[in-house]
Amino acid sequence: MRANGEWNQGFISDLATWLGPDGLKFFRDVLDKYGGLNVVLKGVPGDGNIPHPVHMREGMKVRNKMRDLHTAMGHPHEHAHWYDNHWQAAVKACLGIPTACIDCDDTGKGYQLLSGRYEEVPCRSCKGGSGDG
Ligand SMILES: [Zn+2]
Repeated sequence: MRANGEWNQGFISDLATWLGPDGLKFFRDVLDKYGGLNVVLKGVPGDGNIPHPVHMREGMKVRNKMRDLHTAMGHPHEHAHWYDNHWQAAVKACLGIPTACIDCDDTGKGYQLLSGRYEEVPCRSCKGGSGDG
């Protein structure tokens, strides 16, 4: 949950606790290496080195946890796109990295289902895109 651009600190604190030192280190390392979280990584050992988008694997786990936290807080679940567009900013908040845009993690990129495909689109708030939320 994020109101007027401000994250609920209990929400971020709980998410950071769930990520734990290893989870926080993982995302910090990705940020430091690639400059963003929306990247495709080579597979992990035992995984056949199959590349995977962080959004679809680690990001999915974060989004599921964000939903769980909303449930625990008695907060209604947001639209699926909200989690798609906010999990990176939430992770950055857990790392102590503030973001200004209320609809993305300041990368200017959002997500939208277009013709049944999940496509990256310009953020509707900071890049003037036409995302539907
Ligand atoms: Zn934005």
